[in-house]
Amino acid sequence: MALLEIENLSVNYGAIQAVRGLTLTVEEGEVVTLIGANGAGKTTTLRAVSRLVRPREGRILFAGRDITRVAPDEAVRLGIAQSPEGRQVLARQSVQDNLELGAYTRRDRVFIQADIARMYERFPRLGERRHQLAGTLSGGEQQMLAIARALMSRPRLLLLDEPSLGLAPIIVREIFAIIRELNEQGVTILLVEQNARLAMQSSHRTYVLEAGQLTLSGESARLVNDERVLHAYLGG
Ligand code: ATP
Repeated sequence: MALLEIENLSVNYGAIQAVRGLTLTVEEGEVVTLIGANGAGKTTTLRAVSRLVRPREGRILFAGRDITRVAPDEAVRLGIAQSPEGRQVLARQSVQDNLELGAYTRRDRVFIQADIARMYERFPRLGERRHQLAGTLSGGEQQMLAIARALMSRPRLLLLDEPSLGLAPIIVREIFAIIRELNEQGVTILLVEQNARLAMQSSHRTYVLEAGQLTLSGESARLVNDERVLHAYLGG
């Protein structure tokens, strides 16, 4: 049984068909990449899994359980966390407050501070800036905070939307090193990325979306050399 199974998912915004009949799986322990042009439906797919948009059709199963209609906070409680596009940290709250917020669905309050301490070990720059307002962090630091905040719910599945967006190449490499490290520590990851080459180099499998529909999928190591992907997403 896959950890995540999306079956025949369709999502509309009014008359716009953002996702059409999408079927995909993510196995426990995998990093899976979703690539596609702007507007292909990648963010919408993640938002359907984290239950922020309502599917028009299809089913979403998590660890075998039908979550198609659960509330977003229930999805977090079940083990799904999203680091959203554009990071969306609370700019006027401290780093520490943002991390505490990430744990809002947890009932084991006594372990939360210990987990925050662990985040500061993994992301030392967040530790140094724990009392600083999140809005004063650099873009890369805010991205790390967004990931750390998502991890605070102790997810089994981490949804990452464009983690490299707007960041300098050296920071992008750092973010991807963190993604690989998290995966080695057992976190399953569904990744949406514009930086298709790096995303494929850091993932087990890739799905390609075009205008809301799946056009190609397979092992990332194979697709990174596939002509169709090369031309469409890797600049030749
Ligand atoms: P990007 O890389 O630009 O974020 P994407 O692949 O993530 O693109 P989505 O954001 O899922 O694509 O958008 C899919 C389609 O749905 C696009 O045509 C977009 O304009 C439309 N769309 C997305 N969000 C909304 C919304 N809240 N209301 C109306 N239309 C929307």
